[in-house]
Amino acid sequence: MIYADYNGSAPLCQDVQEYLSQRIVKGPFANPNAIHFMGQKVLMGMENARAVCAKSLGTLPKHLYFNSGSTEGISHVFYSEVLTHFKEKKILITSGIEHSAVVNSANHYAKYFNLEHRVLPCLSNGTVDFELLKQWLAKDGEQVLLVSIMAANNETGVIQPYKEIAQLCRKHTIPFLCDTTQLIGKDLFNFDESGVDYAVLSGHKIGAMTGTGILMVREPSRMIPMIIGGGQERNLRGGTQHYLGYETLAVALTEFDKKKLRLEELKENRLQFEKALQDKFPKLIILGGEADRLATTSFISYPGVHGQAVQMELESDDIFVTTSSACSDNSPTTSKVLKAMGVKDDVGRGAIRISLGLCSKGDEYSVILKSLTSAFNKLLKIDIHV
Ligand code: PLP
Repeated sequence: MIYADYNGSAPLCQDVQEYLSQRIVKGPFANPNAIHFMGQKVLMGMENARAVCAKSLGTLPKHLYFNSGSTEGISHVFYSEVLTHFKEKKILITSGIEHSAVVNSANHYAKYFNLEHRVLPCLSNGTVDFELLKQWLAKDGEQVLLVSIMAANNETGVIQPYKEIAQLCRKHTIPFLCDTTQLIGKDLFNFDESGVDYAVLSGHKIGAMTGTGILMVREPSRMIPMIIGGGQERNLRGGTQHYLGYETLAVALTEFDKKKLRLEELKENRLQFEKALQDKFPKLIILGGEADRLATTSFISYPGVHGQAVQMELESDDIFVTTSSACSDNSPTTSKVLKAMGVKDDVGRGAIRISLGLCSKGDEYSVILKSLTSAFNKLLKIDIHV
């Protein structure tokens, strides 16, 4: 079996599996907010996990808030910034390739607080139009309440100019939320050096437990709580902490640090795989292939060949990939991200995403290549064109 949907959710990484098997047997289990010895022991473990995560993410523990994942982190930043600044600032900026956690938050607050939601277009290579953003901020910067643009796209893996955007926003004193969900654990990231004001991660994308995550905040005094509760997480996120899950975040990030030297090798394997595929099928398109991409994401399409049909062929060989198509009543449509890149429907409907992780062995590509080759040969012969 080959699991190639790490951008959707990564399996628990090796060190996390080993850690949990010991940790669950040995304990301790207690409420980290209790003042008795057991509670304090759990608290110490959780704070140690925060310190390990902070070091790996290039910042100090005081900038980290544990939560349930990126959707919560993104929602919290929108909530906090909009509720405190909607009277004097009126524009929210996102981009055309954002995850629905960002898009729907922006639409929600625009609707209920009467704000303008401006969507930055994307270029054909899959990066956002940075030059246009510069123009917007030069003209209307004083009215901008929040800029929210991702660091790496979940479909194409294309890495965005997030450090340049951070500098630009800082020049205009506009808070910048960077959705780093896909970047962290698949590329190098340093919160302090990045210059972004808010960043997020989800445990299940980095090989830690699902339902856990981190919100990174440069200036905690700007934030207000979205979940009130008993004052946990320094009054910014109420509710008893999922300390066991947060410990796995520290283990997964440490494993990433140990393995990050493999990134170059994985990128090379990915390039070789794509080249071999294009040699066999010269019409094959690598979506986002002209831009800098995550080392482990490959997004391909054979124009006219139905992506779901390819996915099913691969699945019959026990290989699990995704298409980018949003489907209803079996009529697949080109994804929002690909539409933003100007990709035509015959290409968009054929898109297949193969996403691996740092824990993948690297020999998966040869098996996927073999299976894809027979899938395309078969589908091209029987002419299942969209
Ligand atoms: N942002 C991006 C880019 C994502 O890919 C995802 C998940 O797919 C999210 C945000 C939301 O993450 P979660 O569902 O773990 O909260």
